[in-house]
Amino acid sequence: MSEETEDEVKKDFIREIIDADLASGKHSEIVTRFPPEPNGYLHIGHAKSICLNFGLSKEYSPARCHLRFDDTNPSKEETEYVESIQEDVRWLGFDWGKNLFFASDYFDQLHGFAVQLIESGHAYVDSLSAEEIRTYRGTLTEPGKPSPHRDRSVEENLDLFARMAKGEFAEGEHVLRAKIDMASPNMNMRDPTLYRIRKESHHRTGNKWCVYPMYDFTHGLSDMLEGVTHSLCTLEFEHHRPLYEWFLKVLKTPCQPRQIEFARLGLTYTVMSKRFLLKLVESGKVNGWDDPRMPTISGIRRRGYTAEAIRRFCHRIGLTKYPGMTDISLLEFSVREHLNEVAPRVMGVLKPLKVVITNYPEDGEEMVDAVNHPGDPEAGKRPVPFSRELYIEQNDFMEDPPRKFFRLGPGREVRFRYAYYVTCQEVIKDDHGTVTELRCTYDPESRGGKSADGRKVKGTIHWVSAKHAVPATVRLIDRLFTVEDPHAADGELEDQLNPDAIEELMDCQLEPSLRGQKVGYQCQFERLGYFCIDPDTTEDGLVINRTIGLRDSWAKQAGKR
Ligand code: ATP
Ligand code: MG
Repeated sequence: MSEETEDEVKKDFIREIIDADLASGKHSEIVTRFPPEPNGYLHIGHAKSICLNFGLSKEYSPARCHLRFDDTNPSKEETEYVESIQEDVRWLGFDWGKNLFFASDYFDQLHGFAVQLIESGHAYVDSLSAEEIRTYRGTLTEPGKPSPHRDRSVEENLDLFARMAKGEFAEGEHVLRAKIDMASPNMNMRDPTLYRIRKESHHRTGNKWCVYPMYDFTHGLSDMLEGVTHSLCTLEFEHHRPLYEWFLKVLKTPCQPRQIEFARLGLTYTVMSKRFLLKLVESGKVNGWDDPRMPTISGIRRRGYTAEAIRRFCHRIGLTKYPGMTDISLLEFSVREHLNEVAPRVMGVLKPLKVVITNYPEDGEEMVDAVNHPGDPEAGKRPVPFSRELYIEQNDFMEDPPRKFFRLGPGREVRFRYAYYVTCQEVIKDDHGTVTELRCTYDPESRGGKSADGRKVKGTIHWVSAKHAVPATVRLIDRLFTVEDPHAADGELEDQLNPDAIEELMDCQLEPSLRGQKVGYQCQFERLGYFCIDPDTTEDGLVINRTIGLRDSWAKQAGKR
């Protein structure tokens, strides 16, 4: 992607429609909304909708975007979800100001609309069972047939509906249906249900209601009540649009929101179904909604993905009318790109191998200057302690290295970053033949990593001083699934989970600047990737997540196959 195309504000089909509506004077101010159902935590797919709806309200200022909880279903919604959703939207960098709404705030008005529809002959109380309603409805190839109750009088309908609301009937005994067209090729228009009896208490309205409005009846009318101008939703609602428009027309509402559909985000190697994510949480396959393997906003935040990276990603994928899968590498690219700009660089050893510098003074130690990254709030240099005993990465040493291996091997010399040239003199092993220690010498004339005689080395490796190092547990986080499209694979979704999506390294050793850093602190461990301090950190020890490696190791693996 070139710089120029990135900086342009891409005009997608939705922005074109909005431009036209402003130009024609149809609207002078744009109103959008983000309407989550509070039955789970938000995921990266929701981020696409949030960036779109809230993004538009910023771009087309003065404009506004409402946050509206679609809480029509009394049994499922929970306060925990309402709170987490608000936290996530804010974290993504958006603000609804005073415009926080709940569909349940409109129950009185919706009830009024239902009565209005009955009075004008556009709705009736049906007393068929759910099963019968389904059968009467017909199929895609066969028209439905009218319920025997379809022609009840207005008076009878009003009476029955009032008694439904009072709680005189059991669940399922009656429903209120719109009277539209049982032969419509669009199944949504075959007298859809508007209200059903549910004797459940609601998280906001308590026991006030025994009847609850259906999603389709609620959604478009809530938009209307809020003065939403452009109601943006995902493609599966395309066939619901005629129904929303029918309500607006029949009720002769003053405001007529325009619904526009776009393709939902699908990402490879993960799934976005709230139902499945809930199952993962409830079955303990992950440690909660914010487990860093999860595609939830709270999960990827904990893992160290930044809000800026997610916004860039959403901008890059743009909007289309066609369903498709987005390669997760594009999200990972955006994360790497942003962290590359802002993350301080430090040294950390994940799988330590001890190095003893035999010609270094026994109790000696000194500070060497490590160069800070331009994105580091502390510009310039930082002192890092060097001493006789150090740790390097196990895989930076090979006893019998191939020709292209420029790191440490017996008799080989490498640069210890920011410090000295070091040569491996002797390899110590335990009884099993495992290398436990390297005995090395350093060149005191190479301080700062430059030799005095112009001698060059090919390899530079990172290290930490053993007695100064900060121990830590590091969690390497990988993709949640092993297959690109878990829904398309044979078997259950659970069977496709990546058993190695989290690997815990208990014995990591980090440079002392990590000491005292707070939860959420992000940095690059040089040569290893981007990391973030996890909330599991305690007084006794740091817990750190690897947000993402420096390169796309999956692409490399896939290329090899
Ligand atoms: P469900 O209705 O099954 O609980 P949902 O994914 O539709 O799940 P909602 O809370 O209703 O969840 O979604 C809120 C908003 O986010 C809706 O406008 C929906 O269209 C949008 N949205 C949900 N998933 C995606 C996705 N993968 N890509 C883009 N937008 C999405
Ligand atoms: Mg939904």
